[in-house]
Amino acid sequence: MSPSLLSRQRRDVARPVHRAFTARGVNRSTPREFNDGGVAPGSWGPPLRDAPGAAASERPDRGGPVSHGHSHPHSHGDARPHAHGEHDHEHAPAEPLSDEQRAVLDLGVADSDLPPAGLARRNILRTAGILGASAAGASVFGVGQAAAADGAERSRRAPRNGYLWLAGDHHIHTQYSSDAMYRVVDQVQHAHAYGLDWMVITDHGSVAHAKLGVEKVNPDIRAAREAFDNEMLVFQGLEWNIPAAEHGTVFVHPGANEVAVLREFENSFDGSVNGTGSSSPANEQQALLGLDFLATSITSGRIADAAFFANHPARKGIDSPHEIRGWRDRQPRIALGMEGAPGHQAAGIPKPYGPGSGRGYYDNSPSAASFPGYPLASYITYGGFDWMTSTVGGLWDSLLSEGKTWWITANSDSHTIYLDDAVRPPGADTSAYFAENGRYGDPVHGSAGGNVNNGDFWPGFYSRTHVGARKATYAAVLEGLRAGRMWVDHGRLLAGLEVRVRERGTRDPGHPLGSVVPVGKGKRLELVVAITKQTLPNWAQVVPHLAKVDVIRGAVTGPASDRDTFSAPGTRVVKSWDVSSSPTAVTLTHDLGAVDDGFYVRLRGSDGRRLAPGLGGASVDPAGPAADVIGDADPWNDLWFYTNPIWVLPR
Ligand SMILES: [Zn+2]
Ligand SMILES: [Zn+2]
Ligand SMILES: [Zn+2]
Repeated sequence: MSPSLLSRQRRDVARPVHRAFTARGVNRSTPREFNDGGVAPGSWGPPLRDAPGAAASERPDRGGPVSHGHSHPHSHGDARPHAHGEHDHEHAPAEPLSDEQRAVLDLGVADSDLPPAGLARRNILRTAGILGASAAGASVFGVGQAAAADGAERSRRAPRNGYLWLAGDHHIHTQYSSDAMYRVVDQVQHAHAYGLDWMVITDHGSVAHAKLGVEKVNPDIRAAREAFDNEMLVFQGLEWNIPAAEHGTVFVHPGANEVAVLREFENSFDGSVNGTGSSSPANEQQALLGLDFLATSITSGRIADAAFFANHPARKGIDSPHEIRGWRDRQPRIALGMEGAPGHQAAGIPKPYGPGSGRGYYDNSPSAASFPGYPLASYITYGGFDWMTSTVGGLWDSLLSEGKTWWITANSDSHTIYLDDAVRPPGADTSAYFAENGRYGDPVHGSAGGNVNNGDFWPGFYSRTHVGARKATYAAVLEGLRAGRMWVDHGRLLAGLEVRVRERGTRDPGHPLGSVVPVGKGKRLELVVAITKQTLPNWAQVVPHLAKVDVIRGAVTGPASDRDTFSAPGTRVVKSWDVSSSPTAVTLTHDLGAVDDGFYVRLRGSDGRRLAPGLGGASVDPAGPAADVIGDADPWNDLWFYTNPIWVLPR
């Protein structure tokens, strides 16, 4: 067993389990359960709703507080939490203060060392006279003050079963990228309107960005955080040209040194800034040193946290399996995963209505820099997802079967928006202007009718990464990402999803996505999947319809002897449910059997419109995502969700 899994296993044992799970786990709409074997009825069931039939799951207008006008056991089926202006008292928990709350209240912590949201809260307390020079003692830790601070932070958020499921996007460009154009606030405003809770600004690493952009974008990010009352968590990051490899998202927890650390990182380790982009063992080493730098920046206290995800990993075939293993193994707390689906999902819309490329601009072929082992089939997407993720028994499964934590995400890679009218302003739209200023001028209205050659959607419009966070804070989002408590969807396929592994036939709260479940040999487990199907239209004005859900299972076989392995021959689809006629709230239960050897499970589901046997054959994946056709791939016609895995390891 890999050391990482064992340490995670220990952590998991110690993890407090989800108090609210059974205490409030009464579902009043009595969902039908789809069992593939006998199961005790009345299990914790699907996400709860305020009232039967209330389509409260997602509100396109996320305006003011929502009034419920009734008393209730307070849980929601929401994929996105909403406002609770009238009854915050119900959520004011007698919980110990978090480290972050203590920092806000502890005047020994300088203002400059607080994240922006924390500083905003401290200023509110100051204004209210709660926090004075002599008030840092125990008395201010009372519930009333803590509730005031929480109210200032974001009163609409209420955890369900221990977690808020916060939708986000870690891959977004602005006018500080030479191939993009929008202001930071444009991206934040759209992300907010389309339902995201967190986002990362990731302009391309480049000479101009390292010199100018990384610094100049920061006041824009800070202003955008404030403009939305810190409702939207906006991280600063960059799209790193990984030495010897593809692009990746690197981002940090906000703080006084966020710019300094990112600038030093970019100047020292970006492949295009310092000429280490080409594939060579020496440059591969540079990538690892970059991850080491981030780790050191945390341990030295310069920044509170940082993370790295590999972006569009199979696009050009240049992220070799041993490089991916290398990043992950070098700094497993920072190198967290990869895009399971690339952005640029509008790029496959056929001409003359769209760019007529591949989804994600996956329309490439091998080059001298590509890993020679990758097949031609790896250069396109399948149901909009990257080959590494969409192939059952493929590269991602080979990592999971080793016991390596490596998570998937889905993002917009927003640069220029499909059918948007805006253009760069004449005179401030040239490469010379960009080189001199580190940015383009603010966008202006262009020709009416919109640009059909733009291949991107706004953040939140199509791709979402849902993170189970204990609170709506920067630190909690990073913690959820690191824990792999994540699922992703396209086109708002699902309104809500909760996945647990628990002892079979019990009402045990079980273990969420990303967990390692330690269990005695012979104990019988089950996978419980609580789905809230979508009832509201997505941004294409269509109500997405979930047709099927698949369980994918693989054995944990331990470290691979060949670090360029990219297959897991034993992994396959072990169960499929047809949920096309199931109710909105549906709970699926799958018997995992008596535990003998270690294994993992992950889930996938689809609207069922484009299905085909997987690359491993019908015995492995009888009805997987079909290959996307370059030049003819309508992203709204082929929607999928994927979850991260849960491992089960015998003690
Ligand atoms: Zn770009
Ligand atoms: Zn990129
Ligand atoms: Zn990008």
